Amino acid sequence: MNQKRCSACGAWNHRDNTHCSECGEMLDRRKARIEKLKKEGRLPVVLKETPLLEIKPHYPWYLKLLIYIVKPIYWTFFFIASGIMYLIAWIAA
Ligand SMILES: [Zn+2]
Repeated sequence: MNQKRCSACGAWNHRDNTHCSECGEMLDRRKARIEKLKKEGRLPVVLKETPLLEIKPHYPWYLKLLIYIVKPIYWTFFFIASGIMYLIAWIAA
């Protein structure tokens, strides 16, 4: 089977086609969904490492600077905290 059916108009298209030859709708449902989300601006650009300290393009410069400074401190704190927790667990055992 090398034909795909358009989900919008029901026309048959060649498998390699990305868009329907009849109505222009995207044939790949997953891609179509991503495109739709992109248009609506709801698609997350990249997977965030820390949602808390994410630098968004619309942030004012001082906020970007603040996050830029705080981020390594946050990671250092996280590292120390996990180290302390490990020590506590080790002592308690
Ligand atoms: Zn179509």
